[in-house]
Amino acid sequence: MKLTLSRHIGKFIFDRRIVILLIIAGLLVGGRSWLAEHPQHDPWAALDLNDPKGWATQRKLLALRDDVPACRAVLTRSNVAFAVLDPVGEGECRRDDRTQLGAYPLSPDTPATTCPVAIAMELWKRDTLNPLAQEIFGSKITRIEHLGAYSCRRMYGSEDGPWSEHATANALDITGFMMADGTRISVLNDWKGEGPRARFLHQARDGACGAFSTVLSPDYNAAHADHLHFDMDGRWISVCR
Ligand SMILES: [Zn+2]
Repeated sequence: MKLTLSRHIGKFIFDRRIVILLIIAGLLVGGRSWLAEHPQHDPWAALDLNDPKGWATQRKLLALRDDVPACRAVLTRSNVAFAVLDPVGEGECRRDDRTQLGAYPLSPDTPATTCPVAIAMELWKRDTLNPLAQEIFGSKITRIEHLGAYSCRRMYGSEDGPWSEHATANALDITGFMMADGTRISVLNDWKGEGPRARFLHQARDGACGAFSTVLSPDYNAAHADHLHFDMDGRWISVCR
């Protein structure tokens, strides 16, 4: 049977190739306008933390690990209050990027971290912690307790292992949470079990995996029994344990 690519319909020549091209062109135009309305799914659109989380959000965040000016531009564009502190340190503990969030409920203080860690913290609070606090406790988070961001040391304090992400404050260790209704949640005391506090902690860990490149919890090893370790290590896309 002979394949015909065109045939006459009345006065018009009906060419299948033209119809296919028109369909493809229509899909491209439609897809572009859809992406323009959904920048969170558009890998080329600048990251804005006011947009909801989308397919491209984490990839765009990970790309900021090598670009401090672009990272700070995201905070500015998103109207997130922050301060830029002067670089300090030497060698492996040199900190060129010291970004301090202005209104984050960290306790006992708000340490300067790298900018990508600060953005991941913002996304974690907005997309995971706040909805979880509302869903599980019907409350709001008033305090996020931590063990610090910066520590000039190698991993696990060893003499000759690889340097910790804490050496440049590209990491943060979270130990617990306080809710507005007085509920206190501790990683050390509440990780195990089936209750609401354990559920909160496990889901908080899982949600962090969509923002940080490394997430280590008590499930990983005994060294993390009392805290969740988050960092923005540039070597991988996601480690979630
Ligand atoms: Zn840590």
